[in-house]
Amino acid sequence: MAPSDVHLDRSFFGHPRGLATLFFTEMWERFSYYGMRAILIYFLTDTIAKGGLGFADSKAGAVYGLYTSMVYLLCLGGGWVADRITGRRRAVLIGGILISVGEFCLATPGLPFFYVGLALLMMGTGMLKGNVSVIVGQLYGKDDARRDSGFSIFYMGINIGALISPLICGWVGHTYGWRWGFGIAGAGMLAGVIQYVLGGKHLGSAGLHLPSTGDPEADRRQKRNAIVAVGSALGVLVLLALLGILGVFQMTAEAIADAEGWALCGVVVVVFSWLLFLPGWTPVERKRSAAVLVLFVASALFWASFEQAGSSLSLFAERSTHRSMFGYDYPASWFQTVQPVFVIAFAPVYAWLWLALKRREPSSPAKFALGLLFAGLAFAILVPPALVSAHGAQVSQWWLVSTYFLQTMGELCLSPVGLSAMTKLAPDRAAGFMMGIWFLSTSIGNWMAGKAASLYSSMPIQTLFGSVAAFTIGAAIVMALMIRPTVRLMSGVK
Ligand code: GLN
Repeated sequence: MAPSDVHLDRSFFGHPRGLATLFFTEMWERFSYYGMRAILIYFLTDTIAKGGLGFADSKAGAVYGLYTSMVYLLCLGGGWVADRITGRRRAVLIGGILISVGEFCLATPGLPFFYVGLALLMMGTGMLKGNVSVIVGQLYGKDDARRDSGFSIFYMGINIGALISPLICGWVGHTYGWRWGFGIAGAGMLAGVIQYVLGGKHLGSAGLHLPSTGDPEADRRQKRNAIVAVGSALGVLVLLALLGILGVFQMTAEAIADAEGWALCGVVVVVFSWLLFLPGWTPVERKRSAAVLVLFVASALFWASFEQAGSSLSLFAERSTHRSMFGYDYPASWFQTVQPVFVIAFAPVYAWLWLALKRREPSSPAKFALGLLFAGLAFAILVPPALVSAHGAQVSQWWLVSTYFLQTMGELCLSPVGLSAMTKLAPDRAAGFMMGIWFLSTSIGNWMAGKAASLYSSMPIQTLFGSVAAFTIGAAIVMALMIRPTVRLMSGVK
């Protein structure tokens, strides 16, 4: 299909047929990601006799934070590799294959397989997630009004995958052993890869070609340098892993997670120094970048509490929550299904609400403040049941359901507008890079969510949940005070 044919195609609910291909690719990728994540913390903390790894909470939290934050951090690298070496289309294919192989490694007994599997999953998701979203954007012409609704449909795909997989992988994992759960996650991604290959013909040329400098020789040089850079980075990684395994230096999960924390800080400083201080930006561009920084910090803090859904909240679900419905005792990982159910139910309500409010629709910074407030309240309501559970009692399942509900209300304020606000604020030259910056904020949030889980058994749970609530509500108040200045910095961008 020629690009213009793709842009004109309306065969999938009024959208290009290629959207269906990408919808199902991302649905299966999220199936795999959330299915695996739903059981990860249990696999890490369960005793070896029960088929787990027998890690202490502190180590399990570090591994959880390291894995989930690297997945999003590598979306930055995945975009770069796609632009320089593989193209977006092939990047998604490579990512899908790496993810399936990674899940199958996790399904294989032996600690080395576990760590190799995690590394493949990080790289695979980094190659797939950001790039598939970019291809969605390329299905539409520049001024196509269907673009936003295309992304809403795509977000549904994400959440359908996230909804079904904890049910299946969680049940299989709890019943037959965690490794089988990882195997199902891998099989799901494999289905996605096959579907992607078969459906590729509907994508026209979207994501097929590398962006060109206009000079074929310069393009070739750029590609060669990029291959050398990626090859060297992988080589250094393998070398470090080998030295660690051989015991040349001490390498604990906690130490690696801490090092990643510092690396994240470094990346943020570099990215924002470039966006704010590089000579050559116009004053308006610089102001807008300052607004991006405010939204970035708010977003990282939001995900820090939100992403505990799969870490500290999962531990609370397993250890302190009564889990029974219609006489059936369901596995703790089924709680992971609650958020996507609420997203699917309430996303249309929010879309309607913002339209109905018309001129009174809150600005993006105001939505961010609201998102943080919901995220904080979600933890505040958990303090009383946490107090009760401190005496060894099991609390009602509806506490966690309410927490997940409030978190989702926050997600719907912040997540759908986040990326689009950041993209509109980015200087032209940095626009392609903005998806990576958005995922960087998610990455930092996930890292902090892992830190919180590390503290699970070293402080009273009510103190942990209360501190998260206080911190996040505090951040909401600061963000509320920043609404006006940030709107001013946005210089006309809505
Ligand atoms: N639930 C969404 C997804 O999986 C957003 C997650 C995030 O950005 N932390 O894509």
